[in-house]
Amino acid sequence: MSIKVPFLDLASQQTEIAEYVLPIWKAQFESASFIGGPEVDAFEEEYADYIGVEHVVGVSNGTDALELAYRAVGVGPGDEIIMPANTFIATAEAASRIGAVPIFVDVDDEYLLIDPDAIEAAISPRTRVVAPVHLFGQTAPMELINPIADKHGIAVVEDAAQSQGAFGPTGRAGSLSRVAATSFYPGKNLGAAGDAGAVMTNDAELAEFVRNVAAHGSSQKYVHSRIGLNARLDAVQATVLRAKLRKLDEWNAFRRTAAERYHSLLADVAGVSTPTVRDGNEDVWHLYVVRVDKREAVAAELAAEGIGVGIHYPTPVHLTEAYASLGYRRGQFPIAEASAGIILSLPMFPHITVEQQKRVVEALTQAVIRHGQQAVAS
Ligand SMILES: *Cc1c(COP(=O)(O)O)cnc(C)c1O
Repeated sequence: MSIKVPFLDLASQQTEIAEYVLPIWKAQFESASFIGGPEVDAFEEEYADYIGVEHVVGVSNGTDALELAYRAVGVGPGDEIIMPANTFIATAEAASRIGAVPIFVDVDDEYLLIDPDAIEAAISPRTRVVAPVHLFGQTAPMELINPIADKHGIAVVEDAAQSQGAFGPTGRAGSLSRVAATSFYPGKNLGAAGDAGAVMTNDAELAEFVRNVAAHGSSQKYVHSRIGLNARLDAVQATVLRAKLRKLDEWNAFRRTAAERYHSLLADVAGVSTPTVRDGNEDVWHLYVVRVDKREAVAAELAAEGIGVGIHYPTPVHLTEAYASLGYRRGQFPIAEASAGIILSLPMFPHITVEQQKRVVEALTQAVIRHGQQAVAS
């Protein structure tokens, strides 16, 4: 009997933090202190230290964090935000929610990260922000993107939702732009027990703005200086995040070991191309994304074998029904579009075992061979 391998298994993470979290949750429950409070304050400080920024504002989720970050740098209706076509839709949704227009651009073929030349070509008089996404766990080329943005007087907002703990050449993801947003959705490298997110910045005024908008435009009870959101981080989530933050480097190191193991197990497997890391980057392997031909058939076969796989993402955002009204056409972003048809995310989580990885590689190898043979025969 061959073993099944889940795409993501968070149970071991929960076990490791239960001893810390459960008594605090009990106390919070008994004292009915749910919004804000010492765990939220402490988490914000600890995460700021960890990332290497002055201010962290804990918020409700990553999409709200992006909206707040866009608003903080002055984005308003009709402004344009340049972003990669191959991201999770939230990068764009957060723009649309404030009346801004997502402007999609293509990515490079090796790392699938936003292409700096494409950014420069897309800048218009309405461009207010460029939003690079640190996709799959490694940072976008900020050393190239920041100078382009400076030259044109536009702000940079990192989407750091897939990169907690990752390093670019000049620092941690989340510290590489004027203001950054992240998500602590349970499946992220640093995940809550529900929805949560954060905004990061070195600018005290921006941090105060974000805190104000996230609490109904209010810094003082029932004094509302602007129309805001309800987008606060709650104490229940902050407690989990504090506990997991203490483990994050260790868990990211486990992911790195697992990625290296996949690299070597897959090195000689014909028909599977493995992911690479930019020079100077330290990848935290949020996802381990290979490329295979006949991806649909290979993915279906793995699923049938009990191997959890994912596709991040099957449809680039410019081709989604949600964004049909923007009028993009297939063929505009050849790399994002072609890669969407061949990418396959393998099981990746800190506590994945050697046996599990070997089973994944065995099943993948068989699927690729079988499919290759069928293709030749037909
Ligand atoms: C998860 C994710 C988000 C959104 O975060 P939520 O907390 O789910 O709102 C935004 N951008 C990227 C790249 C993501 O992976």
